Amino acid sequence: MSTIITKFSISFIIFIEFLLFTSSFSAQQIEANIKINQDSPQIIGIEGRFLRENQTKSNKNWAFLNSFAGVENLGERVSDLNLKDKQGENISVRKFAAGEYLADEAANVWSYQTDANLLPQNINAMAHVSWLTQEQGILMLGDLLPQFEKSDNQKISARIKFNLPKEWKIISSEKKTAENTFTVENVEKAIFLIGKNWREKEISNGKDKLNFAISGDWQFSDAEAHETASDIFARYKQLFGEIPDERIQISLVRFPKDVKFGRWEAETRGANLMVLSSDMPFKALSLQRLHEQLRHELFHLWIPNNLALTGNYDWFYEGFTVYQALRTGVEMNQIRFEDFLDTLSQAYNLDNLQTRKISLIEFSKNRWSGLGNPQVYARGMIAAFLCDIALLRTSRGKRSVSDFLKETYQKYRVPNEPQDGSTAILGALEQHKELNSIVEKYIKGFGKVDWAADLESVGIVAKEENSFTHLTIKAKPNGRQKDLLDKLGYNNWQKVLGKAK
Ligand SMILES: [Zn+2]
Repeated sequence: MSTIITKFSISFIIFIEFLLFTSSFSAQQIEANIKINQDSPQIIGIEGRFLRENQTKSNKNWAFLNSFAGVENLGERVSDLNLKDKQGENISVRKFAAGEYLADEAANVWSYQTDANLLPQNINAMAHVSWLTQEQGILMLGDLLPQFEKSDNQKISARIKFNLPKEWKIISSEKKTAENTFTVENVEKAIFLIGKNWREKEISNGKDKLNFAISGDWQFSDAEAHETASDIFARYKQLFGEIPDERIQISLVRFPKDVKFGRWEAETRGANLMVLSSDMPFKALSLQRLHEQLRHELFHLWIPNNLALTGNYDWFYEGFTVYQALRTGVEMNQIRFEDFLDTLSQAYNLDNLQTRKISLIEFSKNRWSGLGNPQVYARGMIAAFLCDIALLRTSRGKRSVSDFLKETYQKYRVPNEPQDGSTAILGALEQHKELNSIVEKYIKGFGKVDWAADLESVGIVAKEENSFTHLTIKAKPNGRQKDLLDKLGYNNWQKVLGKAK
C-alpha cells in the first residue's frame, strides 16, 4: 500500500477500518493470562482456559487468526501450543499449517507463545494487529487469542490478566477489576495499550469523556490534539444526537523514525480508535493531518461501529464517512471550500482512471484483495456528494446528507435486529426518489460519473485540463445556486470572520 502526501488529500489508500457487531452481555466465558518478559518483550506467553463450557466449546480444531485487514500470515507468529484436559492431562496436538492445529480430543486448558514483533517490515499492520517493541505496544485480543467457535453474532467474554515488565502500564477502555486485570465483554474488540511512553489524558466534554493516549513527539502539542478530538466529537454528537459509547479510547502513536512524512494508518474497532502516523514537515500541515484523521475515525464510532448492520457495505460507511468528514472540515473551518472541491476532484479523477467494469457494491466485496481499495473511498465519496446535492436541491436547502445519516443511524443502530448492510442502506436511499438515479448509476452501476448537471444545479463547474478534472465555483451563480453553495459551506469562512468582528 502506498501513501498520498497531498496537502488536503483524503489519503484514500490508507484508511482501513472494519465492522464489528455488538450483542448482549454475558458472564465471562474464558480466562487468559498474558505474560510479557522484561528480557524478550516481543515474545508473549498466553495461557487460558474455558470457564463456561456449555457456551464456548472447545473442539479438536484450534486456529488462530491468519489474515486481517490485508495483514497476512499471522498464524506464523504462534508457537508451542500445549493443550490439557480437565484433569490436567496433556492432549496430543498436531500442527498442519501456520496457526492451525488438530488435537486428539477437546481441551480445557491451553498455552502458547506469540511473536508480536511486526517491525519494521509491515508497519501498516500496526493499526490492525497486535505488536510490541522493546518498550511499548498495542495488544488486540482478536488476533492474540485462539478463534473460538461461536454463532454469528455471539460475543466471547473473558477475564484477562497481564503480567508485565516493571514500569509498564496498561491503558484500556475495558473494565478494570484489579491490578492489571480486566473483564472484557467482547474479545474481538478488546484493545490494550501497554508499555512505557504513553501520555494519557481524560478529556471531558460536558458529561462525556474521551480517553486519549499519545506516544511520541509531534509538531502539535498534546493539548492541541485533545482539543481537536473534543471539538470534532462534540460536532458528531450534535449530528447524531447521542454518543455511541461511554468508554471511548483514542490512541495516537508515531510510526518508527525511518518512516516517511505523511504516512499513516488507522482503525476504529468498537470504541477504540487507533491512529498510527508519521508526522508532517510543518506544524500547520501536521495539525491538518490530525484533523483529517480524527474527523474520519471519530465518525466511525457511530457509522458503522454502532450500527446493527452486517456484511460488506463499506461502499456506504467509507464513502459517506469520507464525504461527511470533509463536509465537517469545511463547517469547522479546518479546511477551505476550495480544499473541499479539490478533494472531490481528486476522487473523480481516481474513479475516472478505473477501467474495471465493476460496481461499488462489487468493489466492497473485494476490499482486501486490493481491488476495492481505494475506489470504494473515491467513488463512494462521489456518490455521497451527489446524494447531498440532490437532497439539498429538492428540499430547497432544507435537507442534506447529514439528515440522511442521522435518520439512518437512528433506524439501524444497535440494539436493532442485525440485517444486511447493503440491502438496508440501498432501501433507505431508495426511499428518496431524487436519489434513485444516483443509486442506479453510481452505486449499483459502474458507468463513468457524469455530474455536470448536478454540479450546475449548485453553481459548480468541472473543468478538464490535461485530462484531469478540476472543480470550481461558477463565475456568476444565480440566487438559487448561491443559496445551495452556501448550504454546502461556501461562505463559511466569511461567516466566521463576520462573527468575529
Ligand atoms: Zn474509514
